[in-house]
Amino acid sequence: MAAVRIRILIASLLAAVLALGFATYFSGFLTRRIERLCSFAESMVGNPEALPIEVVAQDELGMLARALNRTAIELRDLVGRVRLESARREAILSSMADGVLAVDEQMRVTFSNASFLGALGRKGALPENLPLAELVRDPELRELLMRVLRSREPARHRIRLTSAESGTFEVQVAPFAGPSGGGAIAILHDITDLERLERIRRDFVANVSHELRTPLTAIRGYAETLLEGGLEDAENNRKFLEIIKAHAIRLNNIASDLLTLSELESGPSRSDRSQPASEAESVSVSEAMDAALRTVESEARLRGVTLIRDGQAGGRVSGNRVRLEQAFINLLDNGIKFNRPGGEVRVASRRDGDGLVRITVADTGIGIPSEHLPRIFERFYRVDRARSREVGGTGLGLSIVKHVVERMGGSVSVESRLGQGSTFTILLPVSAY
Ligand code: ADP
Repeated sequence: MAAVRIRILIASLLAAVLALGFATYFSGFLTRRIERLCSFAESMVGNPEALPIEVVAQDELGMLARALNRTAIELRDLVGRVRLESARREAILSSMADGVLAVDEQMRVTFSNASFLGALGRKGALPENLPLAELVRDPELRELLMRVLRSREPARHRIRLTSAESGTFEVQVAPFAGPSGGGAIAILHDITDLERLERIRRDFVANVSHELRTPLTAIRGYAETLLEGGLEDAENNRKFLEIIKAHAIRLNNIASDLLTLSELESGPSRSDRSQPASEAESVSVSEAMDAALRTVESEARLRGVTLIRDGQAGGRVSGNRVRLEQAFINLLDNGIKFNRPGGEVRVASRRDGDGLVRITVADTGIGIPSEHLPRIFERFYRVDRARSREVGGTGLGLSIVKHVVERMGGSVSVESRLGQGSTFTILLPVSAY
């Protein structure tokens, strides 16, 4: 009996040791699997490219591993899509012509694109979370952003930035709320050119009205004088009519110069059947200059100004012959008008390097004060209004020259010395044919 009990005891002990061994082995096995699952789950966020976890058994942990593998695939797709989207957005914002600036609630810069930095005259990346005050000195932009941050309402304002590349911007600011706090985003649309064009247009309309009013008032005044008895004034009636005629001619000159300018700005007129739509023909510079010289010859003689032709090597250029001739006439005419008796106007044309023709019209006239030089190609700009009117000028001659030359792919410039004379230089590309 005792031997049987001992055997049972040994068998029980063995069974207990075996059970303990198995239990230890399985619990270690399970712990390792759970640990692997944990570290896999943790690595999924930081490393979406991680390989899927191996499914070692078809039990609950196996099911969990399979579910984690599926989640990892979805997460990888999601991260990929987010990355693509963010790269796309980054590319759009960086290549935008408009400036983009984002700030957080503490007015620190969280994003700015190249256009915005360019407008401030800055290059390269900004330090992270730079306070806006250190980037933008203009209080207007900061105040606008602050207002939007406070009110949480979008706002729009025209702002002038006084940075290196100063300009005027239409700024639109909108608030935004993010998971890690809110902020505001500003889009800056550069309207410097638009504003300049608006100003030019306004000035132009004002100038045209002013230019027309002077001769019209004179015509009306002298016509009334004639009607109110002037007709019987044998001594003066002819003089009054001469004045009316001179002002009518001036009106006509202004109208035709304006028409020329508007045609130059909008391309050849449809009614002008003598010119092909493209306006381009091969024009001999010498021939156009000769024709222009013939046109102004009598005026030069009348004013005692000598016309001198220097170099004749010009070659051919591509453009509208009549317009080029007109540009030469305008320059020659000015050289004669703003000259003195006994003075001269010297013209020359020669081939320059880089396939260009250089045409110069130099006079020994009154010259142009240096402060006026940058503006004389503007419409209606005159150094001395009274003198220009006296010699029948419209103030449009040089702007026609500029337009004609630029339409032909060339440029015009001027050098002048007060009391000694002026030299206008036209550079035109030589035509291929
Ligand atoms: P205008 O009809 O008055 O001549 P332009 O546009 O041809 O108009 O010229 C503008 C102004 O530039 C003139 O009024 C004159 O003050 C100045 N100017 C142009 N050419 C000359 C020149 N050769 N010498 C001196 N002043 C000139």
